Amino acid sequence: MKIPDLFKSGKTVFSFEIFPPKKDGSIETVYKTLDGLSDLNPDFISVTYGAGGSVPGASTREIACIIKEKYHTNSIAHLTCVNSTKEDIDRFIEEFKLSGIENVLALRGDINPEIEPKHDFPHASDLISYMKARSNLSFSGACYPEGHTECDNLDEDIENLKIKVEAGAEHLISQLFFDNSAFYRFIDKARAKGINVPIEAGIMPCVNAKQIQRMVSMCGASLPQKFTRLIAKYGENPEAMRDAGIAYAADQIIDLAANGVDGVHLYTMNNPYIARKISESVSNVLKS
Ligand code: FAD
Repeated sequence: MKIPDLFKSGKTVFSFEIFPPKKDGSIETVYKTLDGLSDLNPDFISVTYGAGGSVPGASTREIACIIKEKYHTNSIAHLTCVNSTKEDIDRFIEEFKLSGIENVLALRGDINPEIEPKHDFPHASDLISYMKARSNLSFSGACYPEGHTECDNLDEDIENLKIKVEAGAEHLISQLFFDNSAFYRFIDKARAKGINVPIEAGIMPCVNAKQIQRMVSMCGASLPQKFTRLIAKYGENPEAMRDAGIAYAADQIIDLAANGVDGVHLYTMNNPYIARKISESVSNVLKS
């Protein structure tokens, strides 16, 4: 199924993100993650592209295919273009076609200062235009409630987001955030600019203080006092931090649903236990 169709019922879409196994991992870890996630009945599962992912049989494309064929769940394959040429992307289009992949989250990818980027696709919008003209794939894109780190201000970033939507992104998934009011501000601005595609809120449960501090320093998410207090109090106690992180994420989701969000995309970090706890505490809210 094409992902934008999921939003037509008006129900709050609930989806998961997973990543392929690291270089020293195995395909078994993917099955373990998917076994733990699939009975939670997500509307779709997306699979990241990039770091790691070189385990035979467990590339982004192959996992997206397994999700669809073996778990009968919709999937999205992420794809970045910063280090790709047109020939590389032509090959991906062919592989997606042969694998029955229908949905792609088209991304530029982060620029690694140690690797000279290729210049065929400067932005995700260029990747979408190129692939859309050559395939029947459905495209999703990334968006940034607090602005992308390279952009001077949120308004300019939203102007650029509009270009991505006009190029063919039919659905957006947001960067993680901990302050729902930042997300609501972003939605208001995006809608006022005429961005009318479904926008899912990206939620990352904070269950490991160090990991979240690293993420936040990379993406620049603001931290409300309610959140920093949790980290200060429970950051050194893994069990307490896990419980507090799960409760905080569930709270965020309930507030988002009450405010009519199109969907919630849970960054599972391949941890079915946490996804299960959160899903169980919000399932009735998301259904109603
Ligand atoms: P773009 O949309 O190209 O935007 C990048 C910057 O360029 C922004 O500052 C934007 O304002 C500006 N810009 C965009 N279009 C234009 C234009 N036409 N003219 C001028 N300026 C423009 N990374 C991975 O490596 N693998 C993944 O699987 C992955 N998954 C992700 C999933 C989500 C939901 C999100 C939010 C991010 C993900 N990322 C992933 C990270 C992403 O690759 C980085 O955030 C990257 O820096 C930007 O990618 P983008 O597709 O948003 O880029």
